[in-house]
Amino acid sequence: MRRFFFEPNDRNGETVFLSEEESYHLVKVLRLSKGATVELLDGSGFVYCAMVTATGRRVELHIEAIVSKDDGKEQIIWVGQSVLKGDKMDTVAQKCTELGVTRMTPLRSSRCQGKLNAEQSLKKHERWRRISLAACKQCLRSRQLQLDMPVSYTEWLDEVSECAESVRLLFWEEEKKVRLQDIPGLSNNQPVILLLGPEGGFSREEVEHARKMGWITVSLGKRILRAETATLTAVSIVQYLTGNL
Ligand code: SAM
Repeated sequence: MRRFFFEPNDRNGETVFLSEEESYHLVKVLRLSKGATVELLDGSGFVYCAMVTATGRRVELHIEAIVSKDDGKEQIIWVGQSVLKGDKMDTVAQKCTELGVTRMTPLRSSRCQGKLNAEQSLKKHERWRRISLAACKQCLRSRQLQLDMPVSYTEWLDEVSECAESVRLLFWEEEKKVRLQDIPGLSNNQPVILLLGPEGGFSREEVEHARKMGWITVSLGKRILRAETATLTAVSIVQYLTGNL
């Protein structure tokens, strides 16, 4: 059954209004009409069954039943991704969503080639959010990926240092010993925070700064992976080791 997202504040009792974008998809792309039954997600873990009661610029639906509610106990898997060039971040946002990442923060690190000013950051954030939302529906996730606005590398390290009990992993191609399978505690539901660099990698100062704050540098093997390959590989292995895949 087709799924659509709605913003919680677009609900009044059992009546829900879809955004213009979701309404366009329902009416124009999928050609659904009044009386059709669909599933609705509000991104908080609930899945509802609902009937279309009015179509138009903003489709109106009536919630008929709760289909499912997840237990809300999903493990925090948080990715800090240095902003990549071109449309690589589209791929990263989509695949991180499919792989069950719970939060993603685009980072401005010193060797980022994908420089974004305030206006570009807003536009890109909206684009990545749309891509992630579509991936959520496609992979039947009931909770959206929390996608932050881009922040600086050092700001983010400070923010993350408040995430108690987390395992913090900086993926570094110059790390020669530590592998993911050597990291204790990945499987007992602790928050896992992954930090991945841009096409030009992290500077040694950035690596040392993170290490001093308790980050563990981790190798993904002797070959140097493309940035987007490294992120998908790191997330996949972490999800496998934590039992989320
Ligand atoms: N410094 C690299 C070089 O000399 O080509 C470029 C960085 S690599 C293309 C982009 C990012 O992917 C790195 O910052 C790192 O986070 C991750 N990465 C790539 N290969 C890796 C490996 N073998 N082990 C750990 N991380 C890796």
